[in-house]
Amino acid sequence: MHVKEILQKITIKKGDITKEQVDAIVNAANSHLRHGGGVALAIVKAGGVEIQRESDEIIKKIGMVPTGHAVITNAYRLPCKFVIHTVGPVYGEGNEDEKLHKAIYNSLYLAHLYNLKSIAFPAVSSGIFGFPKDRCAKILIDTAIEFLENIQTSIEKVVFCLFDDETYGYFEEYYRKLI
Ligand code: ADP
Repeated sequence: MHVKEILQKITIKKGDITKEQVDAIVNAANSHLRHGGGVALAIVKAGGVEIQRESDEIIKKIGMVPTGHAVITNAYRLPCKFVIHTVGPVYGEGNEDEKLHKAIYNSLYLAHLYNLKSIAFPAVSSGIFGFPKDRCAKILIDTAIEFLENIQTSIEKVVFCLFDDETYGYFEEYYRKLI
């Protein structure tokens, strides 16, 4: 498929991801799945404490979630069906670009395994974890394109839902370069 056709499946928007009516929203989680700040806290506040409880059960079973990996829980009171919790890199820990790519790719792959059609991402790692916002935009969009190009998938729509003007600006700018 041509990149321009793939880009039609990708949407850049400004907003609160907890309001997104997609099959799954992605949480920018930490390895302990302790949803204590940033988008993770917003997700638990809007969706319910059950999301934290289910996350705690996962940690009990598998231990920590390594950077670049993703797990899935139900979404309870959120308008989406599932929350995919992925762990992006902390800026400065090394190999951040590859780890961020892996976190996004594995989130898409998990959505694909669940036969989902739509997924929304925040700017993973670019808040508390300190990843530069412009590079985050490029890696997230490039990874979505790569995935949609190479995997025959149920996913028809990938939304990047950005919370602030600055982050939205970087995503919009990079997306526009590609069209
Ligand atoms: P990380 O620890 O991976 O950096 P953060 O939650 O601190 O994760 O931030 C990731 C991004 O999510 C930041 O750009 C932050 O502004 C954004 N964010 C925070 N709350 C929301 C929300 N409700 N919807 C969408 N994005 C959000």
